[in-house]
Amino acid sequence: MTKQWMSERANASEPAPAERSAGAPASERAGRRAGTKPPASSLSRREFGSVAAAAAAGFLLTACGPRRLHDISKDRLRQAIKTWEREYTEKFGKAVTVSDAPPIPGVLFAYALDLSRCNGNRACVEACVAENNQSRDPQVQWIRVLSMDKDKGIDFSDADPYYAPQQVPEPGRFYVPTACQHCRNAPCTKVCPVGATWTEPDGIVVIDYDWCIGCRCCMAACPYGARHFNWATPSLPSDQVNTSMHYLGNRPRPRGVVEKCTWCIQRTRAGRYPACVEVCPTGARKFGNLLDPESEIRYILENKRVLLLKPELNTMPKFFYFYGT
Ligand code: SF4
Repeated sequence: MTKQWMSERANASEPAPAERSAGAPASERAGRRAGTKPPASSLSRREFGSVAAAAAAGFLLTACGPRRLHDISKDRLRQAIKTWEREYTEKFGKAVTVSDAPPIPGVLFAYALDLSRCNGNRACVEACVAENNQSRDPQVQWIRVLSMDKDKGIDFSDADPYYAPQQVPEPGRFYVPTACQHCRNAPCTKVCPVGATWTEPDGIVVIDYDWCIGCRCCMAACPYGARHFNWATPSLPSDQVNTSMHYLGNRPRPRGVVEKCTWCIQRTRAGRYPACVEVCPTGARKFGNLLDPESEIRYILENKRVLLLKPELNTMPKFFYFYGT
């Protein structure tokens, strides 16, 4: 398959249970120490049977019940995907497909953004919302474009994400779009108490929306404000839904979970550019395989003036900013 983001040359070639069991009631333990007879069990045989059945059901649920998408077998994942497809198709009244496309061997994705070309038009934001089924009301947007003062340079404390002039670019301003930086040393994945977010082998940081408990530790850890919490049930009109989904990407998210950019995993693992790259009218956005020495990304890294956001934090983003001219 020809891949949009591949170079031409690459395209040509393609608590411990033991402790718990020791936890007899305090009165019983005290009785044993004092050499007195423990009180007779108050459970009848029938009650004991019910308790044992409940314990067995609990054990079965733990062993066979829900697991992280990261851990389940391919067969179980396919079953889950069929269920989602059926549910989403019923919900939106149109045929929905959910892909489980895996990482492509030999591919490590990276992104580059030409600050000298971005003029702040925010076409990327709109394309991202449409492509990734983001909530329309309340509004959730994975990309934020920050307007900054040319005289001050990159200064987050002085950035304006709500600029609304008649025309862009505004005199004296420049624009820094931000989204998930897909950090190689991602603090967000380290703090998640349930392991609901991780980095895939192709470098995309993903979230298991069914496993996320909504604690928002990852949001606190992310220094780029890249993660967004669904405080209310997301609204996604049926006539605007993107029916081409990936199970780790743009499938609908419920209330109470965190979401963020996945570099359009549903597109990029199929060889396409992310929606923001495709739509950008100034060509400011670049995307490709960091491991391919012929890729545009590698050319930029080797030949342009490149910078990272907040490099002092050692998050090691795979999202690079550069000056093309
Ligand atoms: Fe995690 Fe934030 Fe880095 Fe994305 S930008 S990988 S959410 S720390």
